[in-house]
Amino acid sequence: MNRPLSQRIQRIGNAGAFGVWEKAMALEAKGKKIIHLEIGEPDFDTPAHIIETAHQSMRNGRTHYGSPYGDMTLRETVADYVKKTRNTAVSPQNIVITPGVKGAIVMSLLTLVEHGDNVLVPAPYYPPYAEIIRYAGGNIIECPLTAADGFQINKSLLESYITKKTRVILINSPCNPTGVILNEASLTAVAELALEHDLWVISDEIYYQLNFTSSPPPSIFSNPALLDRTILLDGFSKPYAMTGWRLGFGVFPERVTKAIADLIVNYNSCVPLFIQDAGVAALTGPQQPAKVMLETYRKRRDAAIEIIDQIPNVSYAFPNGAFYIYLDISKTGRNAETFAYDCLEAGVALLPQGPNHIRVAFTQSESAIREGLSKMQQVLKTKIV
Ligand code: PLP
Repeated sequence: MNRPLSQRIQRIGNAGAFGVWEKAMALEAKGKKIIHLEIGEPDFDTPAHIIETAHQSMRNGRTHYGSPYGDMTLRETVADYVKKTRNTAVSPQNIVITPGVKGAIVMSLLTLVEHGDNVLVPAPYYPPYAEIIRYAGGNIIECPLTAADGFQINKSLLESYITKKTRVILINSPCNPTGVILNEASLTAVAELALEHDLWVISDEIYYQLNFTSSPPPSIFSNPALLDRTILLDGFSKPYAMTGWRLGFGVFPERVTKAIADLIVNYNSCVPLFIQDAGVAALTGPQQPAKVMLETYRKRRDAAIEIIDQIPNVSYAFPNGAFYIYLDISKTGRNAETFAYDCLEAGVALLPQGPNHIRVAFTQSESAIREGLSKMQQVLKTKIV
């Protein structure tokens, strides 16, 4: 059969996310030891009470189809969580439970983006955004943020990328890959532009709880003027080490909620009920395990920064959230991709992002991070061939 695949699917790639990872796996299969600092995968187990809830729920027969909107108990729990964290009252009717935040991103973009529309995304950003925007038929328009501005948003610069074709601004805070939390001024800029140009805002806040500062991260979802045009996305993967459970949620204006549920009913039918029960346990049960993880990430970040600060010609913006450090290696004269593959040969997997940056995920033990970064340092000491 030689017929081509659909144009739609040809517009999508794997966002380069698994390139280094696959090569690392191949080296490991040959017996080489690799330290994984490339993917955003917590090394913690999901807290025991969450696992136990899922087991119990399965034994109780929660193994059948459920509502495409999500189970009401979890939607109510999420509504309480949003009130508590974003200081915004929402009805469970505005909430849809999704297969991870990724599922929510895909469905939101398919719902909002018309063929030829522009989606404005501050860069650097989480690579799947670009793939999904293209898959949805849109164009990704990148607004470059700079380390000099602390990766914050400048209103006039962002506005200079808005045209008649712009439909959505997609933001992510705390940010993957920079670890930067958008400040109030950045969020005000986005809010004003969304109102002035009649745009949707999608706010991916999956790292909301991974915040190393003493105050909660500002959220654009706390702005009441924007509620009829803003989609808040958050989930369980990162704060509760539940990446494999595929559980997230979106808070949508009501007419969008129905469209998302229509997509779900035709696609994955529902998120499994026992997984949703586990989500209720995550949000309402003891928060101590999540706090311990957060404190551990903080210590790892500090250890990583201490080492990186001693490496010449490498810079970064201080990460106040998420679990990544975004290294600018342009002054080393290296190309990020070649450098990442050299590091892999030396035994540490790092994620290249564009020609000049490397993302380090501090999701492994402190000793692994120290060993991995010292391997990276050794590679930097070798001559460029
Ligand atoms: N959004 C961002 C910014 C991420 O970094 C990730 C995962 O790394 C996701 C979404 C996907 O999250 P989930 O596991 O809930 O699909």
